[in-house]
Amino acid sequence: MGAAALSTGCNSKVPGETHKDTTFPNPIKDKTKHSYQDLSRSAETIPENIVSQTWSKPFVPPQTIPSSAEVVIIGGGILGVSTAWFLTQQGVNVVLCEKGHISGEQSSRNWGWVRQQGRDIREMPMMLESMKIWHELSADIGEDVGFRETGCMYATKNEDDLNRWAENWLPIAKEYGLASRVIAGDELRHYAHGALAPWKGALYTPSDGCAEPHKAAPAIARAAERNGATILTTCAVRGLETEAGRVSGVITEYGVIAAPIVVCAAGVWASMFCKSLGLSIPQTIVRGTVVRTVPSESVLDSCIWEQNIGIRRRQDGGYSVANSASNDYSIDSDFMHESTTPAQWSLDSESPFEKIRVLNPNPNPDAISSIRESLETIFPGLGNIKFAEVWAGIVESTADAVPVIDQSEKIPGFYIAAGLSGHGFGIGPGAGKATAGMLTGKETGIDLSAFQLSRFREETTIKALDNLPKSASIS
Ligand SMILES: Cc1cc2nc3c(=O)[nH]c(=O)nc-3n(C[C@H](O)[C@H](O)[C@H](O)COP(=O)(O)OP(=O)(O)OC[C@H]3O[C@@H](n4cnc5c(N)ncnc54)[C@H](O)[C@@H]3O)c2cc1C
Repeated sequence: MGAAALSTGCNSKVPGETHKDTTFPNPIKDKTKHSYQDLSRSAETIPENIVSQTWSKPFVPPQTIPSSAEVVIIGGGILGVSTAWFLTQQGVNVVLCEKGHISGEQSSRNWGWVRQQGRDIREMPMMLESMKIWHELSADIGEDVGFRETGCMYATKNEDDLNRWAENWLPIAKEYGLASRVIAGDELRHYAHGALAPWKGALYTPSDGCAEPHKAAPAIARAAERNGATILTTCAVRGLETEAGRVSGVITEYGVIAAPIVVCAAGVWASMFCKSLGLSIPQTIVRGTVVRTVPSESVLDSCIWEQNIGIRRRQDGGYSVANSASNDYSIDSDFMHESTTPAQWSLDSESPFEKIRVLNPNPNPDAISSIRESLETIFPGLGNIKFAEVWAGIVESTADAVPVIDQSEKIPGFYIAAGLSGHGFGIGPGAGKATAGMLTGKETGIDLSAFQLSRFREETTIKALDNLPKSASIS
């Protein structure tokens, strides 16, 4: 493996899919082109806990752990497993340690949107790369991840919103070759045919899409494993081992794995893990509540966000629905509250990561009620639909809602890949490819200079994107 290095390559710009305005193609029904599988029509019954089984199954501790690896990844979310998958493609001997279940936290609980629209311009090259990966992912890993190019839209009753979004986003879309546009009237009704809302219009990107969160990261982990990675679950990393100031391995709950390179892809926990090493990652958290409905008739052909609801049709024919305005801070656990968060812990006894193997907050009952109300008023065809599953997830965000993908200046050999900030499912595969490139020095064409941790020391450079509806930044 080559020396670890930051990728400094130029941004890759990939032209977006050409979209013909006049014909209103209906990708969700075009199974050949988009490999859409409508599982609601299959003979197989959908397990009642199709999503929550990701995190509610029994913990299976590893029987043995390897004594060494070239790279150890901490965290088995979409970012950790994608990094592992891309590292194995370079022949790297990689071990991934996950304290609970693969994809047990954010990566299985999200809305499933794979969205380019409204992204911070710093994320665009990585997101375009991610989109290319999503298109080929099921074929590349040999398992279905449920990706479909459905389009994503932000709809609004307010003309000023629409004008502002268009003014801010359309020049960026054009620069990156995306066919984003404002839609209204018949075209809007076409994509949101079951909606009864007085929307003035929507900002729409036809080449956006969605995938199935309960499938994607576990499938990528299995592919990485088939390619030679060691994937350890129920295996928390308590801390680092260093020699002469640089990383020499990780200390897991089952012992040491020696490694010259360690990457922290610990999602919500990244800040706590790094704080124990004297590294500060400004990270805030909110709770998001999500509902899965039973399969039903089609009321939309796109992922739709508006001020009360975020909704997409699932591959199983149901809907994943959230109240777009109800992410909240009133988390029912003392997890990560400044006053109770341990800054240090012993490395030879149970750590905070083993105490909470899976961060599984209670759903917010107010959010569930307002999802029901929003369905009744906006999509009356779903007004009485049965909620099959309800869950919540803790979403982490950096101060400027853009990831940190960087090496530590303080501890050579230690890297951080976290802070995907509420929209990391879609960008996860691209971020994993970029992270793998950062670790091995392999050129990926994705410039990571905007994701350095040092930006938080230079206050003037911190600028969150102001071009999209604020609460749509989770999706
Ligand atoms: C309700 C909700 C809706 C969302 N909607 C969308 C959406 O529609 N589209 C989108 O793109 N994004 C969305 N997101 C955001 C997206 O889910 C996250 O940005 C993304 O999944 C983060 O991936 P990750 O791999 O960085 O972190 P995670 O998936 O959180 O994985 C981190 C893993 O690290 C493990 N870990 C932590 N510490 C340790 C340790 N010390 N040792 C071992 N393992 C450890 C954890 O157990 C966890 O499994 C949403 C998130 C939520 C919660």
